[in-house]
Amino acid sequence: MSSNLPRRSFLMNLVASGAALFTMANAFAAKVEANDPQALALGYVPEASKADTKKFPKYAAGQKCGSCQLYQGGSADHGACALFAGKEVMAAGWCSAYQKKAG
Ligand code: SF4
Repeated sequence: MSSNLPRRSFLMNLVASGAALFTMANAFAAKVEANDPQALALGYVPEASKADTKKFPKYAAGQKCGSCQLYQGGSADHGACALFAGKEVMAAGWCSAYQKKAG
């Protein structure tokens, strides 16, 4: 039984290190820039209230990445989106692919 302690301790340290690395990677993920080709195609804006309503009349006040089905979260004000691999969008942002989160 006691011979499992070093192994358990090693595994716990491994998990803690992995969590720390994930947090660090998340903190340094690039944010989607306004001139990103995908952002331009989808009309992504970091502030939902600045959505181009002429080009994207689908926008309705109150819609934002933070309440979108495709938003995967992250920090308090930005996080990953399924449509922008390896980059992060602002929780207050919006794009024309917005889908209200269920529930
Ligand atoms: S799909 Fe949703 S979370 Fe992703 S950028 Fe568009 S509105 Fe934001």
